Amino acid sequence: MMIDFEKPNELIARMEQKIFCPERPDCKGKLYTGIDLGTANIVVTVLDENKQPVAGALQEARVVKDGLVVDFIGAINIVRKLVQQVEEKLSRSLEEAAVAIPPGTRAEDTRAIVNVVQAVGLEVTNVVDEPTAAATVLGIKDGAVVDIGGGTTGISILRDGQVIYVADEPTGGTHFSLVLAGAYNIGFEEAERLKRDPDKYDQVFPLVIPVIEKVADIINTHIAGKDAGPIFLVGGTACLEGIEKVISRYTGLPTVKPYNPLLVTPLGIAMHC
Ligand code: ATP
Repeated sequence: MMIDFEKPNELIARMEQKIFCPERPDCKGKLYTGIDLGTANIVVTVLDENKQPVAGALQEARVVKDGLVVDFIGAINIVRKLVQQVEEKLSRSLEEAAVAIPPGTRAEDTRAIVNVVQAVGLEVTNVVDEPTAAATVLGIKDGAVVDIGGGTTGISILRDGQVIYVADEPTGGTHFSLVLAGAYNIGFEEAERLKRDPDKYDQVFPLVIPVIEKVADIINTHIAGKDAGPIFLVGGTACLEGIEKVISRYTGLPTVKPYNPLLVTPLGIAMHC
């Protein structure tokens, strides 16, 4: 299936470059900031007044679990550190930010996320739902956005730009790593590194196929009878090479992913600031 991701891919690549190879941009005018508190990663993204990436920062963290802040102080400390990093890069202070919540987040859990960001001195201008943030970056209005993150897989069906169905199921990248850890009798962190090492692909992929099929099965359950359309993969686990082929085969639906799917939602949150 031909879907033109040229523009989104350019934007995502620019954001990636701002996070991992930072320079000090000279930027004036309004800034749009997004803060993504995930189970595996916390990401701060900043766009300039033309909604182009200007700075970002990312840290792996275990302070949020499936949209729930489980270590409030830890979350504040990491967000503060990332915001400071970005402020140093920009030589400017950030004043406001948007945050995102996974599908189906309860009001009190949303408040906890907002509280973390307010605690570092930022005004929260918007709480956007994750699939909407992702869809904005990808420029799509119809289809199933499947976000395979660290702890969960979020399935959201969009029609005419509206999210008409959401579900979040507890299978994500952590389960891929646990399978590898068990198979090779190694620790979780080593399994994480193995999973992400492109040179170890042959050792990884055959073992995680059953977990991918489990994800695909979850997708099937939620999209059954809903005329969901193509599947758009986002989230860090979608970085795994070939995952889209297994999901497409299992669901029978065209399945596509953009460049670095891990950064799609974080980038989209800033777009909704
Ligand atoms: P959640 O959405 O569950 O709250 P999150 O938003 O923190 O979690 P992401 O940052 O989207 O999750 O993705 C993190 C997951 O992606 C981790 O399990 C990580 O191991 C996995 N991951 C990151 N890069 C790769 C890669 N290159 N190959 C395979 N998996 C990867």
